[in-house]
Amino acid sequence: MSVSLNKPEISVVIPIYNEQAGLAALFARLYPALDALGATYEIVFVNDGSRDNSVSILAEQFRQRPDVTRVVLFNGNYGQHMAILAGFEASRGDIMVTLDADLQNPPEEIGNLVAKMREGYDYVGSIRRKRQDSAWRTYASKAMNSLRERITNIKITDQGNMLRAYGRNIVDLMNQCAEVNTFVPALAYRFARNPTEIVVEHEERAAGESKYSLYSLIRLNFDLVTGFSLVPLQFYSMMGMLMSLLSALLVVVLVARRLFLGAEAEGVFTLFAITFFFMGIILFGIGLLGEYVGRIFQQVRARPRYVVQTILQQRDDGQPLPPPGVEKRTVGRHHE
Ligand code: UDP
Ligand code: MG
Repeated sequence: MSVSLNKPEISVVIPIYNEQAGLAALFARLYPALDALGATYEIVFVNDGSRDNSVSILAEQFRQRPDVTRVVLFNGNYGQHMAILAGFEASRGDIMVTLDADLQNPPEEIGNLVAKMREGYDYVGSIRRKRQDSAWRTYASKAMNSLRERITNIKITDQGNMLRAYGRNIVDLMNQCAEVNTFVPALAYRFARNPTEIVVEHEERAAGESKYSLYSLIRLNFDLVTGFSLVPLQFYSMMGMLMSLLSALLVVVLVARRLFLGAEAEGVFTLFAITFFFMGIILFGIGLLGEYVGRIFQQVRARPRYVVQTILQQRDDGQPLPPPGVEKRTVGRHHE
């Protein structure tokens, strides 16, 4: 059992966005599950700009268990992956575990991840035994997953699942990255020397609704693909080369036809169809280019990736907190 926040063995990082309905159930399972491991631990909650009561519930939980709880409060919504990265910067464990706040990732599985890490792996991913999401969501993400695996060469069997463990070496490397748009498990996989995966349970959301719309899922997948691969751009240059070649051949054929068989006037609508088809491809190509260019723009602007308003934490010597109202303002450390 942990008594001090001094260098715990395990840090659990949990992003929170409008999760007031489920937090009590999360605490009720998370703390006992970690106490049962018999290791020192800390839990770092990162509030990603919730507009509901999550902050006061987290603050109350901090009052209950200040020895093992830290709460990072963002001043706005910066997304799940930024929240996790901020959590990493605020944690000091040797083994970092991330999970969702909605109890879809059973806290009881943390022990299995930690056991695997102790075998000497530096990254332990997880595969959901039976996914408790809607059928279309499961199907769409499986299809996206296999396409992404081919494009990025990142071997993550089940990318939508955040119940994972990372070694201190990997987290230190991630803390040095200043990527504005990123996908934490993929970034970690890039740095891992000895990665593995285990199978875990998956439950239905305990309360509240998914914070991801179809739109934000598509955005996230673009982050994942553009952030880790140039294959889409290379695919377009290859396709452009192939199409130029084919159309050159077509010109030769048409000229020959014109010379030997005379003018051809039919096929106007076929021409329309082909033209629109290629216009679609070109527009998609420009859009894709824009996805990369936009990210480059965000990166060179170098604004803070997130702004930490306050961190609720006990002093290392176990002394009480500074009086309320004393705010510690920090920003993501690479833009300080
Ligand atoms: N989350 C977050 N910021 C966001 C969206 C989500 O911190 O902008 C958190 C959310 O509170 C939860 C986790 O990320 O702890 C996963 O979100 P959710 O369960 O809604 O995603 P799903 O399980 O539907 O993929
Ligand atoms: Mg969820």
